[in-house]
Amino acid sequence: MLQIKLRQLQQIQTHALKTYPEECCGLLLGKKKLVQQVQEAENSWSQEIFNTPGASKRNRFSIAPQKMLAYSKLARELNLEIIGIYHSHPEHPPLPSEFDRAIAHQGYSYLIISLRQGQPETILSWVLDENNQFQPEAIIRID
Ligand SMILES: [Zn+2]
Repeated sequence: MLQIKLRQLQQIQTHALKTYPEECCGLLLGKKKLVQQVQEAENSWSQEIFNTPGASKRNRFSIAPQKMLAYSKLARELNLEIIGIYHSHPEHPPLPSEFDRAIAHQGYSYLIISLRQGQPETILSWVLDENNQFQPEAIIRID
């Protein structure tokens, strides 16, 4: 289970609204399964890099590798770890896509927020099991 504060969920919601109708993305910094900081990141998905017909920032996200390195450094400086990644699914249920699974890491929590008609709808969290399949993870509010 992932433990997170209401204001951190609200921060993710605000970020998702800001980038709508494109996907937002960012990192969850903390320890174990306790989120201590939500770090917004830029969605750097581009057709030039991924070359996937029909795909765009409306249904894909990517955090540039050099940014990931910078965020791991930041986490270390704060004495925290990257414990998960969040992103939004504009006009799509909060279920991980095959693309999400392909770029996912073991041990991370994957928070997905869905938006319907531009309004935040549901947030779910997912973790990879030993067969690299996503399983739902409970979100515990800790306010
Ligand atoms: Zn996704």
